[in-house]
Amino acid sequence: MLMNFGPDYVRAIAPYQGGKPISEVAREFGLDEARIVKLASNENPLGVPESAKRAMSAAMADLGRYPDSNGFDLKAAISAKFGVPTEWITLGNGSNDILELAARSLVSPGQSVVYSQYSFAVYPLATQAVGARAVVVAAKDFGHDLPAMRAAMTSDTRLVFVANPNNPTGTFIEGEQIAAFIDSVPAHVVIVLDEAYTEYLSPSQRYDAFAWVAKHPNLIVSRSFSKAYGLAGLRIGFGIAQPGLTDLMNRLRQPFNVNSLAQAAAIAALQDEAFLTKSAEINARGYRQLTAAFDQMHITYVPSVGNFVLFRAGEGENAGATVNLALLKQGIIVRPVGNYGLPQWLRVSIGLPEENEAFLVALKSVLA
Ligand SMILES: *Cc1c(COP(=O)(O)O)cnc(C)c1O
Repeated sequence: MLMNFGPDYVRAIAPYQGGKPISEVAREFGLDEARIVKLASNENPLGVPESAKRAMSAAMADLGRYPDSNGFDLKAAISAKFGVPTEWITLGNGSNDILELAARSLVSPGQSVVYSQYSFAVYPLATQAVGARAVVVAAKDFGHDLPAMRAAMTSDTRLVFVANPNNPTGTFIEGEQIAAFIDSVPAHVVIVLDEAYTEYLSPSQRYDAFAWVAKHPNLIVSRSFSKAYGLAGLRIGFGIAQPGLTDLMNRLRQPFNVNSLAQAAAIAALQDEAFLTKSAEINARGYRQLTAAFDQMHITYVPSVGNFVLFRAGEGENAGATVNLALLKQGIIVRPVGNYGLPQWLRVSIGLPEENEAFLVALKSVLA
């Protein structure tokens, strides 16, 4: 007899679907790995910064020992760069870890978590993993409808996720509106403001969410080293919150959740302003390249401030899946977003100029 192990809410989870790895596409479609272009996971097309490679080489000698569980040096570097006290910092195995720590430390089974339609796929996962009830608020123009999200909160709501910029849509909300939303959220609800793409914002779009943490004991701001910092494979991110929340998350955190190489690389990457600037420049150029071609091809897309663009693959019910398969056969990996409720759309990460070009050439041939 087949046993149903575990709670119902765990069995109900649809596992995360990541971008297909290059090696898998090469095997499946009989392609040469070197000719495959992966624009599926919003990774930095420049790869790992040289500064981080050097720091990792130096850190190799100590890999026989456990990492610094408290991440002393990295927290000092974050504190120095952003002007936040080290007591506010939680290091995570990717910022994904921070999102999960927030849910696990704050929400009990049956309580509710609010997030937007078309927002990051980890929010439903983190919510379901703790047996909480998801309150998914309809998106407005593919972005968060903050007044509706505020209105959806009840006495049993414990957490709200807000991604700014949002993934997979690339939408952005002005800092003033986010600040007003945070002010309006009741004290029993914790806000996770997920800023995984904040480094790509233009100077005029920037706002300082860390300054808001001082005023709001119910705010966690999360940041990632996976996108603009080029360290996705190392798995490292961090959260900024007042000591009340930081202390709570620390109780559930695995003692050694961030490995030594990741800590060393992150310190170097944080201080590598030239790499960050170059990443933002390459991204802005790639965005213009992709959207100019979309305009020319009469392809609908959602204007994005991130390092990716959501575009409409066609009118057919499953146009996204169809076009995706055709692109895969040509060695181009993008991200289908049917699991986000967007079966006619695809998300393409912004790559190097030649990668964007290869994608556009393939897309033209597929749509012809
Ligand atoms: C990529 C991403 C993250 C998490 O990335 P990590 O690699 O876990 O740091 C978090 N939020 C959003 C919206 C993302 O797109």
